[in-house]
Amino acid sequence: MIVFEKIQDLRAHLNVTHSTKRIGLVPTMGALHQGHLSLVALAQKSCELVVVSVFVNPTQFNNPADLAKYPSDFNKDKALLEAAGVDVIFAPSPQEIYPEKPSLTISFGPLEQQLEGEFRSGHFAGVGIIVGKLFNIVQPNHAFFGQKDLQQFYIIKKLVDEMNFDIELTLAPIIREQHGLAMSSRNERLSTSDRADAALIYQTLNQAKENIRNGLPLRQVTAKVFELFANHERFKLEYFEVINTKNFESIEDTESAESIALCLAAEIGGIRLIDNLLLND
Ligand code: AMP
Repeated sequence: MIVFEKIQDLRAHLNVTHSTKRIGLVPTMGALHQGHLSLVALAQKSCELVVVSVFVNPTQFNNPADLAKYPSDFNKDKALLEAAGVDVIFAPSPQEIYPEKPSLTISFGPLEQQLEGEFRSGHFAGVGIIVGKLFNIVQPNHAFFGQKDLQQFYIIKKLVDEMNFDIELTLAPIIREQHGLAMSSRNERLSTSDRADAALIYQTLNQAKENIRNGLPLRQVTAKVFELFANHERFKLEYFEVINTKNFESIEDTESAESIALCLAAEIGGIRLIDNLLLND
């Protein structure tokens, strides 16, 4: 495994490989867990050389305190990726990626105004810039993302479609802790009891999904979720919405969309967690 910090060095290494090997890219912000490693395993199945980027991208944080608290342990990440048989780590400094504050801005229209976009203003513009940069630097044949960040996946799909990147995208299932909490680097910052309580998120999503399947009107499904969270004072529910994955707009009934997801964001002990379920999984 080789670790590159400089764009130029990574490019020189990959130039030799581009014509002969299928290159897979797994973008991450480090503090790796089994969710990230599941993307690596998928990439290894269909690509001959796997690059994992480890970069906490400052431009996608709308809250400086959140950025400052984001967990990081590069030596641990390196050991995990080495054990997983990764070929290349790209771990640039912020200065390497942003020698100057980028003047280019990128907008994803209505898609970036819903859910995560609404609650984290500017977040997807930052995601668009960093993923666009990584695609240009690595020039992968195939890139891998997790369903955990479902809206992000559709943002990146838009980026690829509208900018004509010749890159195949894979959306990988959510890897969960034993009691159902979606694995996340942020889980490290939860206290033991908050981590146990956070199972409520997955339980609630499952219950809502079952209610929908049993024909309960979506308004009532949503009201029940808000009621449930209102009874847990450690939690602050930011949003729960049943959306059309085409545009991430809330839907009124399940007939109005082909692909539907239940999306939820909540804070517990000051840690923001997100999760989702696809209705037809
Ligand atoms: P992050 O480091 O949080 O930016 O995540 C890097 C990639 O890993 C993104 O594509 C995430 O969607 C994906 N990911 C994060 N958590 C999980 C999980 N629990 N299961 C599957 N993929 C995940």
